[in-house]
Amino acid sequence: MTVRVRFAPSPTGNLHIGSARTAVFNWLFARHHGGKFILRIEDTDLERSRPEYTDNILEGLRWLGLNWDEGPFFQSQRLDSYKEAVQKLLDQGLAYRCYTTSEELETLREAQKARGEAPRYDNRHRNLTPEQRAAFEAEGRSSVIRFKIDDEREIVWNDLVRGKMSWRGSDLGGDMVIARASEEGSGQPLYNFVVVVDDIDMQITHVIRGEDHIANTAKQILLYEAMEAKVPEFSHTPLILNRQGQKLSKRDGVTSISDFQQMGFTAEGLVNYMTLLGWSPPDSTPEIFTLEEAAKEFGFERVNKAGAKFDWDKLDWLNS
Ligand code: GLU
Repeated sequence: MTVRVRFAPSPTGNLHIGSARTAVFNWLFARHHGGKFILRIEDTDLERSRPEYTDNILEGLRWLGLNWDEGPFFQSQRLDSYKEAVQKLLDQGLAYRCYTTSEELETLREAQKARGEAPRYDNRHRNLTPEQRAAFEAEGRSSVIRFKIDDEREIVWNDLVRGKMSWRGSDLGGDMVIARASEEGSGQPLYNFVVVVDDIDMQITHVIRGEDHIANTAKQILLYEAMEAKVPEFSHTPLILNRQGQKLSKRDGVTSISDFQQMGFTAEGLVNYMTLLGWSPPDSTPEIFTLEEAAKEFGFERVNKAGAKFDWDKLDWLNS
């Protein structure tokens, strides 16, 4: 099996250090196994995606020396593949049109809240008759596409960083929306769905991404099964934390790669430091290394589960 991994940033901001560290781990893993590192730009969010952010991401990756083997692929150019995949799930009866209005959903949520329950869609349009569908359409309602989720399912995977992970179908919020509403056909396909279509088409063997995606993985595994594709391995890497132990964010000041570059940090120092944010080299390996040297040793058995605290002193030391 050839290892194929991907880095899949959304161009809704400059290349952030957390995202760049995910790219570093993907690159190291691909190089360690003589595999392929694929770049995919996830620009389906038309309102928030900007070409200047894509440029910033590509420039940042190049500057850091994270060369990719395939891509960049743009999700905005793959809409036909997503439409086709939605249609297939509809034809197989694994997905359906849901005509529930936002007001109805709001009422449902309020009632659940009043009962102290977590909000979830109650699958009310899962088994509509053709007559009921026609009646909703005659009313002029638009429909989203929902994918059926079996509440009884237990979804289990062996995460390469976190070990055995297990979710119940009933914790996934009811049948999930995979495409937005539109007057005819299916509307804009949504994140959890397009990622799976892409990862299948691009033959991704290992999905390496931040732990903020763990909750998506359970849903995505169900989609792989529905599309009769092999489920890849998953590695959810620890978040980068600020001094207070919270997720590093824009509020913490410098967080984008171009900021570090402008401050005069070297690419070699910064990638060296990012590699150490969550990974530790084997005992006999020095802490100062090139990406190629780190790739020889890199594996997920030495990636921490706990968040990695950002340490300016250490970055300064490595940089000097
Ligand atoms: N586009 C997603 C993000 O930027 C990543 C999706 C993934 O790696 O599966 O957070």
